[in-house]
Amino acid sequence: MATACQGHGTHLSAQGQSETIQDQMTSSFSNLSLAPELARAVAEMGYETMTPIQEQAIPVVLQGKDVMGAAQTGTGKTAAFALPLLQRMMRHENASTSPARHPVRALVLLPTRELAVQVAEQVELYAKYTHLRSAVVFGGMDMKPQTLALKAGVEVLVATPGRLLDHIEAKNTVLNQVEYVVLDEADRMLDIGFLPDLQRILSYLPKQRITLLFSATFSPEIKRLSASYLQDPVTIEVARSNATASTVEQRFYSVGADDKRRALHQVLKTRGMKQAFVFVNSKLGCARLARSLEKEGLKTAALHGDKSQDERLKALEAFKSGEVDLLVCTDVAARGLDIKDVPAVFNFDVPFNAEDYVHRIGRTGRAGASGLAVSFVASSDQRLVADIEKLIKTRIELEPMAFDSEQARTTEHFGEHNHTSTREHAGRPELRQRREYTPRRQAAAPRDPFFDQPYEPAAASDSQPAWEAAAKASPARGGISANIKPKKKIAALFKTAA
Ligand code: AMP
Repeated sequence: MATACQGHGTHLSAQGQSETIQDQMTSSFSNLSLAPELARAVAEMGYETMTPIQEQAIPVVLQGKDVMGAAQTGTGKTAAFALPLLQRMMRHENASTSPARHPVRALVLLPTRELAVQVAEQVELYAKYTHLRSAVVFGGMDMKPQTLALKAGVEVLVATPGRLLDHIEAKNTVLNQVEYVVLDEADRMLDIGFLPDLQRILSYLPKQRITLLFSATFSPEIKRLSASYLQDPVTIEVARSNATASTVEQRFYSVGADDKRRALHQVLKTRGMKQAFVFVNSKLGCARLARSLEKEGLKTAALHGDKSQDERLKALEAFKSGEVDLLVCTDVAARGLDIKDVPAVFNFDVPFNAEDYVHRIGRTGRAGASGLAVSFVASSDQRLVADIEKLIKTRIELEPMAFDSEQARTTEHFGEHNHTSTREHAGRPELRQRREYTPRRQAAAPRDPFFDQPYEPAAASDSQPAWEAAAKASPARGGISANIKPKKKIAALFKTAA
């Protein structure tokens, strides 16, 4: 399905929005004639059919065309660019130990260290049966081990822009043989203020190359970036947000602000859930909730912007390894995290921006798996819920939270259409099972004087548009900058998909 795109290039659009990812996964990897080494790795990963972005992007990249892709983390985007790039690089594959025989041929740029690590891990898995080498460099860590890896020679270099420039300046790597560039999560890179760094990096690369740009939305800034650095790109759009919505069970419970922790315990217990992401709106709220849940016996870690990257990586690792059950996060800290098989996402706080709701629930129900997204809605959150309703174009039913022994003690009903009797939920496990669950009353969290101080946001608000701010600001080095601000951009994706 290819139609002319306005301006230049070719436009491939995603399938109907009501289909699930699984419905859309039709083509098998075996149709691609991948090199046996790559096919073996893919089979080992357990992938059978391609996701929509893979189905559309892989053949285009194999043909050597530039791509402008609207796809987010969770769509299978990494394999969509990594597999065809590795396939194309197979002709250079060699077992030599000489670094000169392993020049950087593919450069993948990402906005955060977490994303860089995740993408590098995937690339390594796909390339494991080849002699193609990969490395990842990101800021805030000792440069020495990264330098050693670079000097040994790597074909695929995954990097955050600031740290890559540090290595270029230190002459730890040379980019004059780069044939492929991937600007991944490009909108976030611009939001963070990486534009000057990107421009510098791109100026070091050969003009003759293939450039792939992936972004959640095609804002005017992204289109300008594409017009400057991509040649006659094929545009590919995948409506992940809609696809995700159909694989994620979304529940909205009306709960008094003071009963949210209790509600969280109850849903976890009745659903038999072990691991979940719990989203809150502020760093302070994040730290406070994590401490309370920990005291209540849940293995919890907090992930917010004030944590050092070491702490954040450790929290992520602990979650991945199962040492930690609940990861309490803010939106900024959780951007782009790819953790498979998270059975549930809780919106402990309803997000201020409806777009963040879509990002948050994207952590569950990935690549066709089913997931649960539970939002706890206090009476003051009604306007925020209305915003979400508008964005996802779906009517939201608020359900009362029926606590076990004191049913409806804390429920709040916000109007007739929101009230749903428990009888109507006969098929819903958390309501059906409520008699079987004996609640443990949660003791009130002990007061911590630190948290009685008024909250002052650390990031200074910046009223400049991201593009201007990016052009003027000194580049943020090595990861999440204080310049990150929430942006209202996802709506465009829904419009495109509708
Ligand atoms: P990504 O969007 O690249 O971050 O991928 C999201 C998750 O989906 C990753 O954990 C991948 O391992 C997984 N994945 C990617 N492609 C497929 C596929 N074709 N089938 C099943 N899972 C996949």
